[in-house]
Amino acid sequence: MNEHLTTLVDTHCHLNLPTYDADREEVLERARSAGVERILIPGVDLQTSQIAIELAEKHDDVFAAVGIHPHHVSEWSPALADEVANLAQSPKVVAIGEIGLDYYRNLSPPEMQRIAFADQLEIASALKYPVLIHNREAIGDILDHLNTWVLNLPPTLSDRAGVLHAFSADMDSAAKAIRQGFYIGIAGPITFPKAETLRDIVSQLPSDRLVIETDSPYLTPEPHRGRRNEPAHLEWIAQKVNDIRDDEYRTIRTTTKNAEKLFRWSHDITNRNIH
Ligand SMILES: [Zn+2]
Ligand SMILES: [Zn+2]
Repeated sequence: MNEHLTTLVDTHCHLNLPTYDADREEVLERARSAGVERILIPGVDLQTSQIAIELAEKHDDVFAAVGIHPHHVSEWSPALADEVANLAQSPKVVAIGEIGLDYYRNLSPPEMQRIAFADQLEIASALKYPVLIHNREAIGDILDHLNTWVLNLPPTLSDRAGVLHAFSADMDSAAKAIRQGFYIGIAGPITFPKAETLRDIVSQLPSDRLVIETDSPYLTPEPHRGRRNEPAHLEWIAQKVNDIRDDEYRTIRTTTKNAEKLFRWSHDITNRNIH
């Protein structure tokens, strides 16, 4: 795309999944070559949270989030909550996630999803971490939970409460989340021909509240749609956002700064692989 007019941050990417076991190092190298300066890997259960931490410990430009995804909370318990809180103390953890509600697939009972979501929000505020929120057909309940949660947020999180990742809801919900201190995560669907509503929302949101992500291996952007996604494809998402905003990559540069602010990355960590 822009031959590194700016560096990018993949704020949500599941490089901890087995689909990358055979070529994870090459995937990371391709990301660096595409200008991806940092990668945040969320957990979806205890094991993938642990692997995210291991990958982050191995690579300077990789960071971890820990949490139990709504698909995996059928066995949620106080003991599991303690394990999440313990893992979260690891030095390269920068967020709790991904957590949230998924009423589309309902792989865990909805009542259990709500309990696990509320408990993990409490872990995040107690440890002063922003949260990575997964939503599928549950935006009303999610905003209700967040409304309550932000009432007792520590001051350090008030302007950086977290991200609504792979945002797919409506403009009104985006505006409400932003008022609560959240960022809006834009993923591959922005490139899909039918995503006019999402493109319209992205054209209107304040640039200081946007971040970008691949959600690899899911949500592969055009023109790679149908294959496994990887963080190097973030450039297609950045390109599409830039087409929509038409501001010579100002918005894209801002998304990188937003991610640095949100996850407390100092600005002087240089990645020797960026040229
Ligand atoms: Zn998700
Ligand atoms: Zn995800």
